[in-house]
Amino acid sequence: NTKEWQAAYAVIAQLEQAGFEAVIVGGAVRDVLLERRVHDVDVATSALPHEVKAVFQQTVDIGIQHGTVLVVVPEGTVEVTTYRTDGDYTDHRRPADVQFVRSLRADLQRRDFTMNAIAMRRDGSFVDYYGGQQDIQACLIRAVGEAEIRFQEDALRMLRAVRFSAQLGFTIDPKTLQAIQQRADDIVWIAKERMKAELDKLWVGQYVYNGLLNLQNSGLATQLTGSFEAEAWQNFQTTDAQVGWAYFALLQGDSWQDILRDYRLSNKEMAFVKAVLAAFQVYQVGWTNMDYFTYSLVELAAAAYFATLQQGVVAISYKQICEKQAQLPIQHKQELVVNGVDVMTWLGRKRGPWLKQVLQTIMEAVVNGEVANERQAIQAWLVQYDFQYD
Ligand code: ATP
Ligand code: MG
Repeated sequence: NTKEWQAAYAVIAQLEQAGFEAVIVGGAVRDVLLERRVHDVDVATSALPHEVKAVFQQTVDIGIQHGTVLVVVPEGTVEVTTYRTDGDYTDHRRPADVQFVRSLRADLQRRDFTMNAIAMRRDGSFVDYYGGQQDIQACLIRAVGEAEIRFQEDALRMLRAVRFSAQLGFTIDPKTLQAIQQRADDIVWIAKERMKAELDKLWVGQYVYNGLLNLQNSGLATQLTGSFEAEAWQNFQTTDAQVGWAYFALLQGDSWQDILRDYRLSNKEMAFVKAVLAAFQVYQVGWTNMDYFTYSLVELAAAAYFATLQQGVVAISYKQICEKQAQLPIQHKQELVVNGVDVMTWLGRKRGPWLKQVLQTIMEAVVNGEVANERQAIQAWLVQYDFQYD
């Protein structure tokens, strides 16, 4: 992601030239120190939003009330946020207002964890008032300042701590963990969408089991909807959050739909989970051609993976699923060479509810190799087939 860095450096250089201070902050600095892949390179500056806008040709107001301006430079786009402190927190969610300040120190102080409160200057030097580098070395997640107050201000930070423990494999510092235990019930103030966003990241964490253990140890698990038994997650690993939700659903039993809906999963995500659970159910009896046809590769692979996790022996491999699907006479509904009009003509019957059933039966026969996907073959097969019409 050198492009992102080049863009950020270009932005910082221009802000400095205009007499302001500007640094890289947040996740990018943390991930550089961890030698992890960096995704967003955020810039913080002493310049006020209108001053940022005056320095650059092209900007977009994306969160001007919080001091964030998107700056467009030839190298790319960069989020530039004015140094700020947060006003009073009254609802455990968001500050009532923010104050723009000229002090980097004050800006870093409002940040959640020491590892996220390090700034990096253009010359590569670090500004680290809260021992973030030391904590990264020690693999510790530690709140900036008085942990209990920080969690009382914004309850989402508790879930962020757990999520980072799943991503990085870090330990939550004992005092910070204790503070979460004290404030865990405040998590109910947080919007379900924001909880989901954190869980999306937790499921794909390289250390998801560590995250689940911390979710339990911190007392957060009992405050959240659903069951978060850590043991089942011991060997779980995915890069796809949807697969995480499907596995979570599998562990919830019959009430999985209500639980997942509580986290506001999209219809598409719900459909994916439903398909994976259905495929998992029939895996025990063995997948038929129709199962390979009905479910996508990702859905089948997820179901097979869950079977592997539950049985402790490797189920069908990804490659085997792939081959099975490739060997099917047809892979998609659209490949069927006959349509409803053909069927009505051949049978001399008017359109009705029967038609959909007949087309489905033809589809199954083709998928199962009982009849070739050829018009003549299907017509011959159809006229001799003993349907119970109506
Ligand atoms: P990710 O890799 O998930 O993007 P990140 O650390 O960049 O991790 P963001 O949510 O992108 O996380 O936030 C950017 C920075 O803003 C954080 O590093 C942290 O300094 C600060 N921050 C974000 N959310 C909070 C919060 N709820 N309270 C305090 N500081 C926060
Ligand atoms: Mg980020």
